[in-house]
Amino acid sequence: MPSISEVLDSMDYGPAPESADHALKWLERGPFGHFINGAFTAPDALFTTDNPATGAPLAQVSQGSAADIDAAVAAARAAFGDWSARPGHERARYLYAMARHIQKRERLFAVLEVLDNGKPIREARDIDIPLAVRHFYHHAGWAELVVEEFPNHRPHGVCGQIIPWNFPLLMLAWKIAPALAAGNTVVLKPAEYTPLTALLFAEICTEIGLPPGVVNIVTGDGTTGAALVAHEGVDKIAFTGSTAVGREIRRATAGTGKALTLELGGKSPFIVFADADLDAAVEGVVDAIWFNQGEVCCAGSRILVAEAVAPRFEALLRARMGRLRAGDPLDKGTDIGAIVHPRQLERITGLVDQAQAQGATVHAGTAPQGCFCPPMLLTDVAPANIAVTEEIFGPVAVMMTFRTPPEALELANNTRYGLAASVWTENIGTAMDVAANLRAGVVWINATNLFDANAPFGGMRESGFGREGGRAGMLAYLAAPGPQGRAPLADSPAPVPLPAGGGAGGGIDRTTKLFIGGAFKRADAGQSWSVHGAGGDVIGQAPWGSRKDIRNAVEAAAKATGWGRATGHERAQVLYFLAENMDRRRAEMTEALVQAGSPDPAAEVDCSIRRAFLHAAWADKLDGRVHATRSAHVTLAMNVPHGVMGVICPDAPALLGFVSLVLPAIAMGNRVVVVPSQTQPLPALDFGQLLVSSDVPGGVVNIVSGPRAALTRVLAAHDGVDALCCVAPPEVCAMAEAEAAGNLKPVWTESAQRDWFGPAGQEAVFREFAVQVKTVWTPYGA
Ligand code: NDP
Repeated sequence: MPSISEVLDSMDYGPAPESADHALKWLERGPFGHFINGAFTAPDALFTTDNPATGAPLAQVSQGSAADIDAAVAAARAAFGDWSARPGHERARYLYAMARHIQKRERLFAVLEVLDNGKPIREARDIDIPLAVRHFYHHAGWAELVVEEFPNHRPHGVCGQIIPWNFPLLMLAWKIAPALAAGNTVVLKPAEYTPLTALLFAEICTEIGLPPGVVNIVTGDGTTGAALVAHEGVDKIAFTGSTAVGREIRRATAGTGKALTLELGGKSPFIVFADADLDAAVEGVVDAIWFNQGEVCCAGSRILVAEAVAPRFEALLRARMGRLRAGDPLDKGTDIGAIVHPRQLERITGLVDQAQAQGATVHAGTAPQGCFCPPMLLTDVAPANIAVTEEIFGPVAVMMTFRTPPEALELANNTRYGLAASVWTENIGTAMDVAANLRAGVVWINATNLFDANAPFGGMRESGFGREGGRAGMLAYLAAPGPQGRAPLADSPAPVPLPAGGGAGGGIDRTTKLFIGGAFKRADAGQSWSVHGAGGDVIGQAPWGSRKDIRNAVEAAAKATGWGRATGHERAQVLYFLAENMDRRRAEMTEALVQAGSPDPAAEVDCSIRRAFLHAAWADKLDGRVHATRSAHVTLAMNVPHGVMGVICPDAPALLGFVSLVLPAIAMGNRVVVVPSQTQPLPALDFGQLLVSSDVPGGVVNIVSGPRAALTRVLAAHDGVDALCCVAPPEVCAMAEAEAAGNLKPVWTESAQRDWFGPAGQEAVFREFAVQVKTVWTPYGA
């Protein structure tokens, strides 16, 4: 026992262990089966889940088979009708009861989480469990409000939900609460390493009398997850985990009609400007990368520091790192607990070894023997070092320097991920400017790793798509009025190219070209094909666009960055002017549609002009929101454009279909590469003239006609395309979804007839798909 004067010298903590007795007692209920249709099944095909801090086995849990998934999905399906038909108030009562019952057992949940995952008790107790409770309370509210706030929306049906091991109960809450609030039923698969708090939660479902089948929990490994993804009875998949598995799930769900949201990995920048409060920023790093052992998808793992303060910041940071305590997760003085599994520890150390071999200098704190990893800071890293590019998912940060804000932004955005970012500066102008230009779904200013049930969370680029939390999170569990009962779109015969450099033919001399970068361009293939009118006569030739033309178009679109930065008012002015010019050329457009065999050319032109007015109106009105979060922050949920969007137009109506898809996309600030109608591309190609004369900057709209399936494949697979909107026959949509797995771009597809002339032609979905939510937390108030 140290003397008081020794303690005052070292200021060391005494041990403050949390008892695990009650959690170990609860575990005696094992071995555990699955929770299906309101009851636990007989334990079967058992595997052991261990305490990573000690290696001791904790419990035996069942490995879910395809038959178990089948039974769970059947139970969820059977429960769906009654559950979704209940008044929101009834669902609210159940969600409220879930919050209350977790709160009543918060200590048991916290300790069980610590035993299963290895995280420090302080974090489980103060962060995981209270946030999970808050999520259920908040969504009790949404259950009450859903009909009023989301008119015309309906729940998807049965949701398959797959969660990782880093925040087991919290991720369960993020998935189950909004799903139930919206009226869905769920089958959830927890991670193999951490199934225990989900099983404790299942007991709560029984305690509160939740109708059987509304929540089903099937434990198991990745094969259980894959069986859930593949099940035909599932209407929506919500996944949180690695980008690699997210990509597999994107491919597996392509063409199935299942809704999909993916919360994937990250390599989030943590930017420290020279004027930042460096002490606060050092504490920020502690919360960014050494919180939860760094096993955090949005961890600030890339520290970017202004060169002027880098030496001082590094010294402060290394001193702080040296004082972090890694060890027994049940000790309340522990900062860094155990790594979830020896396999994960191996992955972390393997990546650090590779980084070192590539030139990194490793600075490390201390950690005990066993499944523990010391906090680490890697310096002398080149941008291509593996520790800079790969998600390590451990307590390992890299540090790099920058000289100017543009350089900081360039480094920050130099990643294939886009989940989160932290910005540290005392200058609000710098903070907001950098926040606006970061490609990340969440930005924290002078803060990090803040979460709230009312703040949308989710990524861009290879960090996935969809949001959890807040209004945007509710939308992920609701379907807009869908194409049910509408006839599928039939495929049209693929065009046949004329011989290279083919003449006009049919006595008609029209030289139609592709429209790329604001200019008319000959197709790279030097080919065209004959377009036939309603009577079968040749009305002109369309250019035969190919892979090369799409690449040029994407390049032109990528360069037109000014459009995304223009204000909504400026974009509206351009769209109004476009409408005015369309009005002026009404006769010409009508004549083109007569030739193209439009059933009512005058009405199509008229409706197209009105639609241009409508989207001009929306250009400055799709406002974001300010969310009320629990902390003293103004939490902005801003609607930001994707960047470059691919647009595949339906065959008919040739002009109105094009206008109805392209204009909302550009009104919201995107640049587009459009594949017009395969049968009647000429009205859309002619539209290029209107774009030129209406001050639409070059590169904002690019039009490439040609064989639809081939061009769609190129657009869907292109890494420079950030989102894809595809109205096409089912097989083309399925292929687009599968090809989009490459850079995980969000895809909106439709393969059914739509009345483009009526309200369906201007539904909110076209605007909403054209933007993604960026959540910016700015400090405010006390
Ligand atoms: P995974 O992505 O494999 O696991 C996430 C969840 O998906 C788990 O429930 C897992 O089951 C399940 N799963 C695995 N394969 C499939 C499949 N083919 N179909 C459906 N579900 C599947 O992450 P890991 O746990 O393997 O971790 C590997 C790496 O992923 C980490 O080192 C880290 O870099 C990253 N990761 C990122 C997370 C994030 O939130 N961004 C979260 C977790 C990991 P099971 O647990 O049984 O494998």
